[in-house]
Amino acid sequence: MISGHTRIAAVIGAPIAHSLSPVILNAAFAATGLDWAFLAFEVADGDAAPALDGMRALGIRGLSVTMPHKEAVAGLVDRCSADAAALGAVNCVVRDGDDLVGESTDGAGFIDAIAAETGFAFKGRRVVVLGAGGAARAVVLSAARAGAADIAVVNRTEAKAARAAALAGAVGRVASFDDVPAADLVVNATPIGMLDDGLPCDAGLLHAGQVVADLIYHPAATPLLAAARERGATAVNGLAMLVHQAGHSFKRWTGVDPPLAAMESGARAALTETR
Ligand code: NDP
Repeated sequence: MISGHTRIAAVIGAPIAHSLSPVILNAAFAATGLDWAFLAFEVADGDAAPALDGMRALGIRGLSVTMPHKEAVAGLVDRCSADAAALGAVNCVVRDGDDLVGESTDGAGFIDAIAAETGFAFKGRRVVVLGAGGAARAVVLSAARAGAADIAVVNRTEAKAARAAALAGAVGRVASFDDVPAADLVVNATPIGMLDDGLPCDAGLLHAGQVVADLIYHPAATPLLAAARERGATAVNGLAMLVHQAGHSFKRWTGVDPPLAAMESGARAALTETR
């Protein structure tokens, strides 16, 4: 029951009504018995600064940040973690005394999700990332930190591919679809497959022995994942990443280990019911 003692965490973004964050985080608070509640606030583009002032004034304990505020918040917090500073983007704000600290939990969520779902270990492996936007950049940085030997970024706009690949230092490079067959892990970080809009790369480039990860989680089976499975590859969608990044935020806010199974079943139930 919500009372005067209840601690509040929230997500800001626009649009926000379809965010799964409230379902996932409230499932986590319920499963751990913490007297916390999680809300969603629609905050218009350009209004991240007053939203952070509100966080300070209202004593909101933790904030998730989604589109279109991730970059703006990186410039508004008192300081950023190393990952958030490198990415120039924040998806999680943590209080440290009076300071607001910007963090990025997408990359850690991605690495943990791939390991949990497939057992894939990044050290010495070849990764192809399709796309070079915010999610792709988090994947590139985290794959490099996890020890990947080669991180090839394929993107429609080559200049953005170069900026994303640079996050991986010596192991990052701009690449083409020709690099897909040699990859141990192929990651779709474009929105292609969310609508009935085909595959982000040719199905003929995929094969058994590869892990193919689509960051999309709705639909659960994208055309890319269906093609990967058909060709004998291991296929995984983006739901586990969503849950694991929320788990990292939960841990930073509360200090408690996240109840990942409860968080995932909350997300699955919401996806089944409302979409
Ligand atoms: P961005 O808009 O930041 O980046 C999108 C990328 O996809 C860009 O590189 C863009 O290329 C490319 N792209 C978009 N449309 C096309 C197209 N028609 N053809 C070729 N390339 C295209 O988006 P995000 O990085 O935030 O999100 C990407 C995907 O990842 C989304 O599906 C999102 O839902 C998912 N995601 C999942 C998360 C999870 O937890 N599972 C977390 C975050 C995102 P260009 O640079 O040329 O414009």
